[in-house]
Formats: sequence, C-alpha cells, structure tokens
Amino acid sequence: MPGFELFGDKERAQVQEVMDTGVLMRYGFDGMRGGQWKALELEKALESKMQVKHAQVVSSGTAALTVALVSAGIGAGDEVIMPTFTFVASFESVLALGAVPILVDVDDTLTLNPKAVENAITQRTKVVMPVHMCGSMADLKALKSICEKYNLLLLEDACQAIGGTFEGKPLGSYGDLGCFSFDYVKTITCGEGGAVITNHEEYKLNADHYSDHGHDHIGKDRGAEGHPFLGYNFRISELHAAVGLAQLERLDEFLAIQKRNYSILREALEGVDGVTFRRVPKGGEENCAFLNFFLPDELSAKKAHKALGENGVDGCFYWYDNNWHYYRKWEHLTDRKSLGNLPKEVLNGLQDFSKIDFSKSDHWVGRNISCLIKLGWSEIEVRERARKIVNVIESC
Ligand SMILES: *Cc1c(COP(=O)(O)O)cnc(C)c1O
Repeated sequence: MPGFELFGDKERAQVQEVMDTGVLMRYGFDGMRGGQWKALELEKALESKMQVKHAQVVSSGTAALTVALVSAGIGAGDEVIMPTFTFVASFESVLALGAVPILVDVDDTLTLNPKAVENAITQRTKVVMPVHMCGSMADLKALKSICEKYNLLLLEDACQAIGGTFEGKPLGSYGDLGCFSFDYVKTITCGEGGAVITNHEEYKLNADHYSDHGHDHIGKDRGAEGHPFLGYNFRISELHAAVGLAQLERLDEFLAIQKRNYSILREALEGVDGVTFRRVPKGGEENCAFLNFFLPDELSAKKAHKALGENGVDGCFYWYDNNWHYYRKWEHLTDRKSLGNLPKEVLNGLQDFSKIDFSKSDHWVGRNISCLIKLGWSEIEVRERARKIVNVIESC
C-alpha cells in the first residue's frame, strides 16, 4: 500500500485510450466510444479476480458501502453492527441512509469480536459489517454463523484488505456483499473509486440502478430509460476505471512485494521482548498492507510510537489517539453534530455513548502499533527499517 507508488506505463496507456475516444462517462455515447467500456471491463475483471458473479464499480469506497447497504434494502431505522475501530466511512454510509450504526468491541484480531456482535443484536438489527482493518480479517466463519442464526446480512468492508483471503476465498466474497475502495492511498488505486461485489443478482441490479439515479439501463436511449426506484449518483468515470484496470492487473505483483516487506519486518520483531502480533483468524491470509503488533501496555505503546517518529521511522500509526479511525475521537458522531437535522430514527436509535463501555477495545487498540508496508521500498531499505524499529523498541 499504496498502489500509486508504482504508477507506470500500464496506467498511462489505459488513460490514453480513454482520452483517444474522449468518452469519459461510463454510460451512453455508444457511437463515439467505439466499443470501449472501461468501467464495465473493470467490473468483469473484478468478478473474475474475486471469484464472484457480480461487481458494481462506483465513485468511492464510501459510495460502495452505501450502495451495498441500500441494494440489500437497508433504510431508515435499520441497525448495522460495526466495530469501534474502523474508518469514519463505515458509519457515514449507514447514516446517509437514515440507518443506525451500532458500535461494538474489537478483540485481538483488531476487528469485530463475534461475542460482542451477538450481544448487540436487537429486533432492528439487519446487518453485521466487519471491517478488515489494516490488511487482516474478522473471524468470518463465526460471524457468518451468527448471521445465519439471526437472519442478518454479512457485509464485508474489505477496503484495506484487498487480496487477503479467508478459507481460500478472496476477502469481500465470503459474506453476502463485499466492498473495496480504490482511493488514493489504498493497495490498488484509481484516484477515487470503489466496488461492491456479490453473488446475489438482485443486489447487483439494485446497485447498478441506484448508483446511476435509478436508471434501469434498458435500451440505448438514456433519456427514455425507466426509473423503477429512487437513486443517486455514485458513478465512476471512465478515466478512473481505466487506471483501476491497470492497477487490478498488477494486484498480485503488489501483494508479493507487500508480503516480502512485511515478512522482513515481522521476522525482525519476532525476537523482541514484549512484542506480540495481532491474531489472524484460523483460515485467514493477510494481504500484508500493514504489520500490526502489540506492546505490553498503553504507556509502552505510546512511548514506542513517539520514539519511532522521532527516529525517522515514518508510516507507523497509533490508532488509539487517531481522529479518524477510533471511536474515542468521533465526537461528531457521539455528540450528533450534523449540519442539518438528523432523521428521528437516527437520533432515537444511536447508542448513549456517555454510558457505553468499550474498555475491551481500548485494551487491544491502546497497545497496538500499526506500520504501513510500502511498495516502493527496496529490500535493503526494509532491512534498514527493521533494524531501526527493533532498536527503537528495545531502547524504550
Ligand atoms: C478507505 C476506506 C473506506 C472508504 O473509502 P473511500 O474510497 O476513501 O471513500 C471505507 N472503509 C475503510 C476501512 C477504508 O479504509
């Protein structure tokens, strides 16, 4: 991560092909485009790569989550269970539909704790949304069996874990729906973009219509198309899709580099006193976008993180104090600070964050340090970095 580090001839050639026809829109202009359909091609490539029947490419990862939820019929007042450790996009996509995000604890996988999920289920629960943070996954097997027991949807946010697998299946393809982001800092990027994948034809059709103002995409005249239900504009442009095509083709190459760099850092840290690693659920393979480890307590993690920065080791995160990725700093959500009025279903349905106890999440996230694995590092640079990280942590 991130894929822009290795932009090259393939990306340039793809963009040039779009400029050559001049058709930057994914729909219509059939004569002018001369048979070139980049967004459609990217959907076919994703279906094959992710071993699913359907993919819908959209304008961002946040859009993908929103489109995935609405495609499955999620709306006002429905509850969506999600982790305390994620990116704000998770609850934004839910709130955009008038649905209610319900935060629950993470465990030593740094993703949803299945027990906490089961405890949070109510009459209004419709979806369980694990977020495969920093390259590794939730215990999908346990979550799937909970979803089956209570008749809930399993929606995987795989925005940070593209290329990882669980029980041999690509992350995102294990649940009912999966989402990816191709924003500028993700493992594969097209500037701004995202995708929904699913094996349910109905969800695909809904996603296809909803993300384009409700267009039913029947016939050759956009103006004459029908609108079976209300939609929105979450379209991707052909330019972005073209870059995405080049990057998806290179996913395996990027994953191999991530794995090499990750393994060097991990081996170096394995011998360090007090360092333990994030648990990867049985049957899971990380995509190695980050290396996540724990120190014995919050104070030592804070000190080590500070020392890493002071010693020039960039790209190591202490999410516990981060404004965007952990519930402790989400006062815009917890204090309900919205520009306009929020729907009454949301106001009535949100948890009382002044009373809630997320100390089990704090226990793990407070001790965690997360190091971004870059694609552009040479092997010598990674070894040098590993040596530095070990020295810093041992001297803390
Ligand atoms: C990046 C990200 C998103 C949102 O993707 P955008 O394309 O930036 O909208 C959602 N969830 C997670 C976990 C992410 O990392």
